[in-house]
Amino acid sequence: MSRTPIMAGNWKMNMDHLGAVSLVQDLGKALEDAGYDPARSEAVVIPPFTDIRSVQTLVEGDKLPLAWGAQDISAHEDGAYTGEVSGSMLAKLGCSYVVTGHSERREYHGETDELVNAKAKKIIEHGMTPIICCGEPLEVRKAGKHVEHTVGQITADLAGIDAADVAKLVIAYEPIWAIGTGETATADDAQEVCGAIRKAVADLYDEATAESVRIQYGGSVKAGNVVEIMSKPDVDGALVGGASLKAGDFAQIVTFYAK
Ligand code: PEP
Repeated sequence: MSRTPIMAGNWKMNMDHLGAVSLVQDLGKALEDAGYDPARSEAVVIPPFTDIRSVQTLVEGDKLPLAWGAQDISAHEDGAYTGEVSGSMLAKLGCSYVVTGHSERREYHGETDELVNAKAKKIIEHGMTPIICCGEPLEVRKAGKHVEHTVGQITADLAGIDAADVAKLVIAYEPIWAIGTGETATADDAQEVCGAIRKAVADLYDEATAESVRIQYGGSVKAGNVVEIMSKPDVDGALVGGASLKAGDFAQIVTFYAK
């Protein structure tokens, strides 16, 4: 399998720019100490907007083996959209990745699949890579409809995006009941849905596109459970919230292959 695992730390609304500088410095050191090999996994930090310039300056200046991204993007190009941040602004700050469709944005900001799709297109238009999040709430899992629900989201989120762009993007399967709760899906649960997403991509596009797209699991991933989750064939990385705020913990997750 030629997919390079991708470990992305979603800092959410934590860390001002001073905290970001010290976390990234600590992470650079922790990765070095852990013998990090960028050929074996890709490490990405996703700080709040206000930290991105500081993270960029530090990573570039110290040549740290990290990519960075943003947690959201405007679906608009520019203009009178108070409070929004455009794709060209993020691209200019060297962002490689932008998250869209996170359950917290779907839930607290009413973001629909239609908007997630528009944002994914905007991210691609500006030469960055979307990390498209999907996943079911607890009641859907209890009803046994989690695969259908998640595949439905991804089908809508990818509408009108070319195979060549889909092949390069990242999908994060995040069961909502496992986010920030300490409740982790089992590795088999993660595999079931990540495998179904890959099959859906093959059905919507073709086998080569499905083999190329990277699918992360997210939901209470920690140093203690990452190895098992990463042992599954369709899990290509993790989207990490809480554990990405501690340099040592995140470095252990990024270097899961060394355990
Ligand atoms: C997330 O916010 O995407 C996430 C998975 O958070 P946590 O790791 O804290 O569950």
